[in-house]
Amino acid sequence: MKIAFCASEAVPFAKTGGLADVAGALPLALEDAGQEAIVIMPGYEVVRRSSFVVRRLKENISYSVIGKNIKVYFIENDKYFGRGGLYGAKSGDYPDNLERFSYYCRRALELLKEINFRADIVHVNDWQTALIPVYLKSVHSQDAFFKDTRTVLTIHNIGYQGLFPREEFPKTGLDWGLFNIDGLEFYGKINILKGGIEFCDIITTVSPTYASQIQTAELGFGLEGVLEKRSARLFGILNGLDYSVWDPAVDKMIAKDYSIRSLGDKYINKEDLQKTCGLRPDKEAMLAGVVTRLAEQKGLDILAPAIGNMCKMGLQLVILGTGDLKYHRLLQKAAKKYPGLISLNLKFDNKLAHRIYAGSDLFLMPSQYEPCGLGQMISLRFGTIPLVFKTGGLADTVNNDNGFVFVKYSRQDLIAGVKIAAAAFRDKTGWRARMERAMRCDFSWENAANAYLKVYEKALSS
Ligand code: ADP
Repeated sequence: MKIAFCASEAVPFAKTGGLADVAGALPLALEDAGQEAIVIMPGYEVVRRSSFVVRRLKENISYSVIGKNIKVYFIENDKYFGRGGLYGAKSGDYPDNLERFSYYCRRALELLKEINFRADIVHVNDWQTALIPVYLKSVHSQDAFFKDTRTVLTIHNIGYQGLFPREEFPKTGLDWGLFNIDGLEFYGKINILKGGIEFCDIITTVSPTYASQIQTAELGFGLEGVLEKRSARLFGILNGLDYSVWDPAVDKMIAKDYSIRSLGDKYINKEDLQKTCGLRPDKEAMLAGVVTRLAEQKGLDILAPAIGNMCKMGLQLVILGTGDLKYHRLLQKAAKKYPGLISLNLKFDNKLAHRIYAGSDLFLMPSQYEPCGLGQMISLRFGTIPLVFKTGGLADTVNNDNGFVFVKYSRQDLIAGVKIAAAAFRDKTGWRARMERAMRCDFSWENAANAYLKVYEKALSS
């Protein structure tokens, strides 16, 4: 099968979140499964400045190679992508995002023709690439080149839909006839993700529980009706984890490698983390890690006010994250109040993230909603026990055997969960057994790729 994977970010070239991990790993797993895949993404400034080998194909198109022979094509355009951020700056989203990603989507389809890649499947991801199925079924509906091409849209987070004022519709280059209730119109605005959902052949999202949740008013963010209408074509496939990147047995970024057979060495990482973060080196003190975007979705509204209670329990906390200034301030206040117990790192730092996953005992991930979540899967592999709210992918990966799950979204229930974890931590034998169960969990991309292949086949037979 020929698969063109379109995403607005992909590891190792550009990353702001979990989408990049998926876009970097799924094509590799598809290649391992014998399929022919390419990736198409914007040629941001970070790509141009990176040390990766990037070759020029033609004017405004360059490419790199990942895996055995997967070409990653970069669509360049100084005006749209020659800037510091992917989607915005500190002050907020770039005001021309509709123009930027409409351009990307149009160019991606032209590129397929230019390189003569007759894709069986064009797999698009989130709103930034969601115009591709719309263009295929409108502008290109009579185009023989795409006659046998089918589209799959994966929703990584339905909270981000690409909403724009109706006046901007001409920027998409689409006929106004598509600005209606069965197309891209959404309460008088343009909703790009809605267009993708309406026009693609198959919709997937990144965990089975989230696939059900987005069809409800509580978590559908207004698109529940549109999704329900297409529910026969909607599937939940749990993301895999790239174990070549996330494996404590071969991790170059941590103080000491360890595996299930050398769990004692995990404590070398704990001590190293405590020392570098200015916390008291103490094997017996429970060390909780947080690596996250500082956003309401990630549960900061219950986590930030619970920090005082955790510190009073004697917990040590290492927090790594950036995001809403509101949470920067709240956390700074807590860190000031409990010096020596909290290490606050308000930045994006991949190396520190690895060291937190390796050195912590507990990993806190109380997301309000979580399409799939990588943090809990990473922490499981590192034997760092996740404590999660029962939602989305967290509900599909963490249970009370390999972690701790609380079922009512509240600060009190989070604190109660931490108390249960702290009591379990004191039982050394029980804790070790839990770590082993966590490390044995297998969320490999191989399983995910096989599930995607089945979905691609469904799309092809439609
Ligand atoms: P998201 O909703 O942000 O995509 P995921 O849990 O799916 O959440 O993926 C987040 C990814 O980004 C994980 O690999 C996590 O380790 C990483 N990450 C998040 N914040 C930071 C940070 N401040 N520094 C380094 N890595 C981070």
